[in-house]
Amino acid sequence: MKKVQLSRLHHKTNIEPTISLSPVFVRPGEATDLPKFELPATMSEPQTAYQIVHDESILDGNSRLNLATFVSTWMDDYAKKLYLESADKNMIDKDEYPATAAIEERCWRMLANLWHVPDIDDTIGTSTIGSSEACMLGGLALKRLWQEKRKAEGKPADKPNLIMSAAVQVVWEKFCNYWDVEPRYVPVTPEHLTLDGYDLEKYVDENTIGVVSILGQTFTGLYDDAVAISKKLDEIQEKTGLDVKMHIDGASGAMVAPFCQPDLLWDFKLDRVNSISTSGHKYGLVYPGVGWVVWRNTKVLPESLIFHVSYLGGDMPTLALNFSRPGSQVLLQYYQFLRLGFEGYREVQQNSIDVATFLSSEIAKLGPFELISKGDTIPVFAWVMKDGYTENWSLYDLADRLRMKGWLVPAYPMADNMADVTLQRIVVKLGMSHDLAVALLADIKAEVANLDALQSPLPDEFANKSQFHH
Ligand SMILES: *Cc1c(COP(=O)(O)O)cnc(C)c1O
Repeated sequence: MKKVQLSRLHHKTNIEPTISLSPVFVRPGEATDLPKFELPATMSEPQTAYQIVHDESILDGNSRLNLATFVSTWMDDYAKKLYLESADKNMIDKDEYPATAAIEERCWRMLANLWHVPDIDDTIGTSTIGSSEACMLGGLALKRLWQEKRKAEGKPADKPNLIMSAAVQVVWEKFCNYWDVEPRYVPVTPEHLTLDGYDLEKYVDENTIGVVSILGQTFTGLYDDAVAISKKLDEIQEKTGLDVKMHIDGASGAMVAPFCQPDLLWDFKLDRVNSISTSGHKYGLVYPGVGWVVWRNTKVLPESLIFHVSYLGGDMPTLALNFSRPGSQVLLQYYQFLRLGFEGYREVQQNSIDVATFLSSEIAKLGPFELISKGDTIPVFAWVMKDGYTENWSLYDLADRLRMKGWLVPAYPMADNMADVTLQRIVVKLGMSHDLAVALLADIKAEVANLDALQSPLPDEFANKSQFHH
């Protein structure tokens, strides 16, 4: 994980210490300057405060042209109406908002069912603030299970390790850092871009709490091969007796594969899968602030991790890192489930896959690029520059040129041991229509032609190399 330098955190709009207000909307008697880093001494009119926040936030740019993010940037008007109506609800107050609590349970049960839990009456799940919290909970359950087993056997339980691809999302580095687990990264190589069981026996030992399998790597959109990992773990168990379980990080893919790749084996149908997490706010099609995690059965979620809150005079088990958090996103998730149903999700995701595979095949035809993925898993694909194509420009330069036209199409280094390889990636999601894709393609073609016309290399400092985070 790259550490962000502190100075980086200072945005360009934070250089001046005050905000000067436009005379057009300053009201008589109001200050014309407000401090930026201290709490203003007195009140402002709501219109003035609104205008300041509104005006500054439009600098964020147009989210519809943001092809870097996996997170939903569009919901329909009914969803917006629900959002406003429910903005005051706190997810943790199960007693005060029993209807929201009931809806939350319906949502994770629907997911448990979609992901084929063996027994719907013996499963457990929860909403979270996003996949990060959901992954942390999945990881914690694996760690606690392992610890309890080790202690029961009278063995030391102080050196847990977790195995994953070097191309994991940063949450897994955080998990290992925050909870004192040794991360064991399996390198990505051109032959093994995803975790596919290769060499796994070299990483597993008695201190292994589990293996993370990613359904939709952030770098490339590719799926780790859960079946191959699971088979390899079977072999390892036969030889060593070690019974190692898996968590599926399905941040994107767990809301795509059930609809668009129904024959793919990756979920609770695989016995080794203990838990699955996803981001409701990615291909779950909800605005930022919701994730989900579900466990195969109640046995694999140690009781010692569960807290009990009162709910309608009864008992409600909860498991979360956060206490208070918005309840509205959970209602929005339920809205989408009702609104779209299985067939609706299938159509939306398939349409995104169609747009992604159209774009990737056209980009492959342009000449300079070689695809790393096509966008036929999750609708996300990445490409590299062909070896020796040119010294005059790089994918960073192309990303900069596209940014001038409003498109965010980031270039970034591949995971650690392939960090010398630069990728460029497009994430297609609801709102990226075929028409918009055609417009993007025209801009990519034009900018490639401009860059190809260069007589000598662009100076390095023009390219904005380090701003992108997965
Ligand atoms: C996005 C992502 C995460 C983190 O999810 P948030 O919902 O942003 O917290 C974790 N893993 C993968 C594979 C992701 O794509």
